[in-house]
Amino acid sequence: MQPRFGTRAGTGYPLAEDEPGGRHTWASGEWALRPTLVTFDCAQTLVRVDWQPSVIAVKSASLAGIAFDRQVAAEVYDRKLRSRWPEFMQLNLQRDESVLEDFWQRLTVDWMQEAGLPISRAVQVIAHANELLFGEGSEVFTLYEDTLPCLVRLQTAGYRMAVVSNWDNSLHRTLRMFNLTGYFEQVLASLEEGVEKPHPGLFKIALERTGVRAEDTLHVGDNPLDDWQGARNAGMRALVIDRDADVQTDVRITSLLQLAEVLGV
Ligand SMILES: [Mg+2]
Repeated sequence: MQPRFGTRAGTGYPLAEDEPGGRHTWASGEWALRPTLVTFDCAQTLVRVDWQPSVIAVKSASLAGIAFDRQVAAEVYDRKLRSRWPEFMQLNLQRDESVLEDFWQRLTVDWMQEAGLPISRAVQVIAHANELLFGEGSEVFTLYEDTLPCLVRLQTAGYRMAVVSNWDNSLHRTLRMFNLTGYFEQVLASLEEGVEKPHPGLFKIALERTGVRAEDTLHVGDNPLDDWQGARNAGMRALVIDRDADVQTDVRITSLLQLAEVLGV
């Protein structure tokens, strides 16, 4: 059966009704050729992300013991962040974590001032925000159970690995918080590189920096457009991870442990 292409979010990723039901043919197709490099998307692939900046800001101020109108404060925060997003994008190009830390601190102080919150408490608010984001039991980032076992198996088997992610500079800190940094020889955050998936440019930077050919690379990500189509457009092989799906197919895995199986490790 020929898959019908082009109807899922404008991608070539096959529609559900066209997927071979439950049967996969890894050994027979392009999978017989093992990749040298495996690149991973991060958000909803390696790490579950629920990032709502104004929610974090409001919660941090509440934890700092400040009484205020949460709805108004959230609206002010969203507006301020939106208006400063171009600056945020520019600063990311500097690839300096302290520059971005300064950006968020200034944003917090200015937000508190405009929303009528006492800026004398800004230090506490910022500390609570950092804890909610990157502390133990983070409410924003959660490591999937299958991530570490998969990375360990691939690394032990000698696969080279990289991260190719639509993310800001905090990607590095997020990977550090889960002790994942050591598995990857390259970590690419789109905002630091100035190009975003599905543009093949971000994938091509990964190939340049690792010196691996596109056809020797497999990309794994949750987004059919950004990850699957983007990687294919860069000449790479690709797999979508969909942990909510029932069955594995030629183009989709439902757990990162299946990736290890596919690669024979
Ligand atoms: Mg993703």
